[in-house]
Amino acid sequence: MAVTQTSISYYGFQSAKQSAPDFKEMVDHGCTTVILAVTEFDFDFRRCVIPEVVDEAHRQGLRVLIDPWGIGKFFGGEQVSLFLQNNVNHRQVSAMTGEALPAACFTSQAFRNYFNNMCLTIARECDADGFFWDEPHYRLPMHTSSFMQLAEDWSCRCPECMKKFEARYGYEMPRFMNEDIAAFRREEALFTLADCSRQLKELKPELEITCCIHATLHDYYNIGYRGYDDWDLVGACPYFDVFSTTIIGWDQPKKFFVDITERTIKMAKKYNKPSERWIMGYYKEPEDFAKVDEVAQLYADLGADRLAAWTFRGGVNTMVAAPHAIELWDRIGENYKRLLKK
Ligand SMILES: [Zn+2]
Repeated sequence: MAVTQTSISYYGFQSAKQSAPDFKEMVDHGCTTVILAVTEFDFDFRRCVIPEVVDEAHRQGLRVLIDPWGIGKFFGGEQVSLFLQNNVNHRQVSAMTGEALPAACFTSQAFRNYFNNMCLTIARECDADGFFWDEPHYRLPMHTSSFMQLAEDWSCRCPECMKKFEARYGYEMPRFMNEDIAAFRREEALFTLADCSRQLKELKPELEITCCIHATLHDYYNIGYRGYDDWDLVGACPYFDVFSTTIIGWDQPKKFFVDITERTIKMAKKYNKPSERWIMGYYKEPEDFAKVDEVAQLYADLGADRLAAWTFRGGVNTMVAAPHAIELWDRIGENYKRLLKK
């Protein structure tokens, strides 16, 4: 089995000059690709340097995928959202309490326009190789038990979602989750990303889209209604090129790593797309760093085409740094160099 791409995420860029040594360090760590996290604040405040940062990464031999990191708190990530700061409306709403939540409703046209404009503008202005959709999700629920689903809160039951649902199904959107709501949420969630991906490809057909969804079991005891829980729906989307699933915590049993990875690869193959598996390279680290080798090798042996890790230098100098951030980063680099197809 051959790994053909090794990625590392990177945030907090300021200029090409300041990022240049970091990109060199990535190459020295066996990375082929940088996943460049662009926050709403970056887009608003530092957009002018994105093209030069992308060019510098290219000069050093790295591919560049743009990660619209945490936009509207629709994607995963720690950063804040200007959309939420600047809009009191267009937020997801709790079905049970009717309260507005600190997450944009990505079914709303206002958010879709905002998100599409951001991605299309970046695509137009810089020479990135693709985009990376990073853990897209509805705010609620994050975790639930499948047999308890009717007792759990969920989102989004905002006026715009309710109006769309009623037009499509012919009755008022209930407060309790049912099959129609689950399908509606999946359709709307997929449309938000598929439509943006379609527009990006119309603009630049060579742009590659990776859709990275949560690595969840979806069995009798545990299902996450994040909106992207039907892996077939995501895998079959013609505008997504790579099927990717997220990080698994180091303390999870080996069987979980195996199960998620096997299912990820199977789904990718079914739709004739490359598969990608993620390694936790920040915040938490395994008690024994040999587990980094074991997991990376497992991914490669099972047939993952691509490996990716969050984040550059183990997140050092942040509150989510791994305890031994640089050692963890070095260990990931050793595995990248060992497993990458020459
Ligand atoms: Zn909504």
